[in-house]
Amino acid sequence: MIKLNYRKKIIIIGAGVAGLVAGCYAQMNGFESHIFEKEPHAGGLCASWKIEDLTIPTALYFFLLGNTPSTNLYNLWTELLPIEEFSFITPPYFFVTEYTNFPPCFFPTSLEDLGQYLLQRAPQDKLLIQEMLSGIQTFIEYELPIDRAYARAKFHQKWHQLINQFPLLLATQKWANITVKEWANSMQSVLLAQDILQMASPESAMLYPLALLAYAHQRAVGYLIGGGTKLIQALQNQYMTLGGNLHLNTEVKHIRIRSKKAVAVGLGKQQYFAADYIVACCDLYHLYRILLQGEYFSPKIAAQLENFKPATPMLLIMMGIKKNSFNLPFTLLGYNLQLTNPIFSSPNTLVHYLKLHSLAHDPTLTPSEYFLLTVQLPTEFTYWHQLYHNNKRQYYKQKQSLIAQVILALEHRFPGFANHLVFSEAVTPAAFWRHTYNFQGSYAGWCPTPTGLRQYLNRTVEEIENLYIAGHWFQAGGGIPAAAITAQNTIQAICAKEKLAFGVNA
Ligand SMILES: Cc1cc2nc3c(=O)[nH]c(=O)nc-3n(C[C@H](O)[C@H](O)[C@H](O)COP(=O)(O)OP(=O)(O)OC[C@H]3O[C@@H](n4cnc5c(N)ncnc54)[C@H](O)[C@@H]3O)c2cc1C
Repeated sequence: MIKLNYRKKIIIIGAGVAGLVAGCYAQMNGFESHIFEKEPHAGGLCASWKIEDLTIPTALYFFLLGNTPSTNLYNLWTELLPIEEFSFITPPYFFVTEYTNFPPCFFPTSLEDLGQYLLQRAPQDKLLIQEMLSGIQTFIEYELPIDRAYARAKFHQKWHQLINQFPLLLATQKWANITVKEWANSMQSVLLAQDILQMASPESAMLYPLALLAYAHQRAVGYLIGGGTKLIQALQNQYMTLGGNLHLNTEVKHIRIRSKKAVAVGLGKQQYFAADYIVACCDLYHLYRILLQGEYFSPKIAAQLENFKPATPMLLIMMGIKKNSFNLPFTLLGYNLQLTNPIFSSPNTLVHYLKLHSLAHDPTLTPSEYFLLTVQLPTEFTYWHQLYHNNKRQYYKQKQSLIAQVILALEHRFPGFANHLVFSEAVTPAAFWRHTYNFQGSYAGWCPTPTGLRQYLNRTVEEIENLYIAGHWFQAGGGIPAAAITAQNTIQAICAKEKLAFGVNA
């Protein structure tokens, strides 16, 4: 049952994770909500599509965070999803890397195994290894607040944290200020330095992989059987059950502002849809530059955004492989294969490692005789974006050429691989942009650099009192947790403005 006593209207732009979560909480709190989504389906970066009879999930190759009751995020998921009915599998390895000239690394997710493993691998770095393990231990004992960077916490919140969570505060300050690359460089062992560089992108703060390892150790991060499809279907069902209104194939073209209030969204052809609140759950730059026509993109915001770096653009190759042709261990971050002959994924990006994910453990995605293997490569957004717009023929040719080079590399490592290949397809960052408008085709918002983690982006548009923003851009590191939490916070803020107690039941 929906609360009918209070029916102010909220328009939500975008039906990605953030939009659907915002919609659910809006409905639970008695608002009339309308989600406008430009694509023919909900999901955004988390949407899935079909190639023949295969389901290709875009996101959730790796994990859904907060899938066990021991974590803060679990409460949010239980408010929205029948999470206890979902099946998760948790990976024994954080990652595995096969090097060309070092022994392979099987980086365990269990803290005890990890300690033993690393000490055996690099005894000369015993003290630094212990320091890192103690960081993970702290993040296990005191869960990081994921919705607010510490630097922006209010004074009384900091004070509260200081008293109750002093070790967490120290660990956060320490690991948020050192990058993966800097930490790797402090190792005496060249081997361990290489291993550390596999934990996250080199410019990420060490806080990010260590906090993730803390979740992984507690088995609070796992692969959701059914992938992104399952998550989005469940969120969409919940939204519809709560009486929400989902308008697919409906692009918002601009936001109409009158007397410093967002009064309506323009849907093209002089069609407007009015509301009391507008929540933009779409890309930040798209909001400021297109929907608000650049008017509110102040030098202050521009300067602030300069401090962030979008997640490294990703080129994704999906492959259908005959079952039992070869096995890869199940990992959280991937099975990294160092290439004997590096590959150019774009003119300025030489790729040294292929990141493989086998989805053989998910029988819901493919017919029983196949499984899905994905290969991730870092690349450049501008190259693919321009190629797509200037020369489509060449764009498709380049994708095929890259797929052929990757197959060759995999054949070299797994002889006979090509004979087991059923199909292959590549998704470029230009396609991520086309389907979602995410800045530079970013697949997960901002990279969690030390500077990015310290910044706090306002979740309202300055000077406009009823325009809110949510999504993965509002917490460096991004991903589904950031999208969901910021959407929940936005509806909390609107409830507070309306002097309504925020509730989680319809
Ligand atoms: C391959 C891949 C793997 C990933 N793996 C993981 C993972 O394992 N774990 C994890 O936590 N995260 C993962 N992510 C990241 C995660 O999927 C995203 O961070 C998250 O889904 C972002 O959600 P969002 O709602 O903030 O934004 P989006 O998904 O970008 O949603 C925005 C929506 O707004 C719509 N839109 C934009 N402009 C308009 C407009 N003008 N009018 C109407 N609609 C509009 C878009 O079409 C889109 O549907 C992965 C991403 C990818 C691509």
